[in-house]
Amino acid sequence: MSNNYSCPECKSKMNIGSSLVFSAKSPDNKRGLLFLDTELGNYTKRTHPDYELQQGVEYKFYCPVCHIKLNKAENPNLVKVHMTDDTGKEFEINISNTIGEHCTYKIKEKSVEAFGPDADRYNKYLDLPSEYHKYL
Ligand SMILES: [Zn+2]
Repeated sequence: MSNNYSCPECKSKMNIGSSLVFSAKSPDNKRGLLFLDTELGNYTKRTHPDYELQQGVEYKFYCPVCHIKLNKAENPNLVKVHMTDDTGKEFEINISNTIGEHCTYKIKEKSVEAFGPDADRYNKYLDLPSEYHKYL
């Protein structure tokens, strides 16, 4: 696996080993570090045992380096990072901000590839052209 993830704002790399690192905040202001797997469609989440994620709750996600909010302004349910794959192709990756909601979108211009059992959740929002619906 050699996908590299970076912050859309400061361009800092956000993956270390097989983890994609976010700073997260719950609606009741509990802050902590959240490690996701760098493999698309793998929904393993790791945190420090003192930082328990609340299932079904919408979190805010921040870049661990520059602390900019990564939830999209036009749809705060989607968290945006940049990814470069092992061939050097660049994509926008969107994931759900809701703990336990498993969907990932790999976006390049009008082409969207969707992963995860909840992938149709944001289908309408992403407004996929019909020829790309086969991915959902
Ligand atoms: Zn940043």
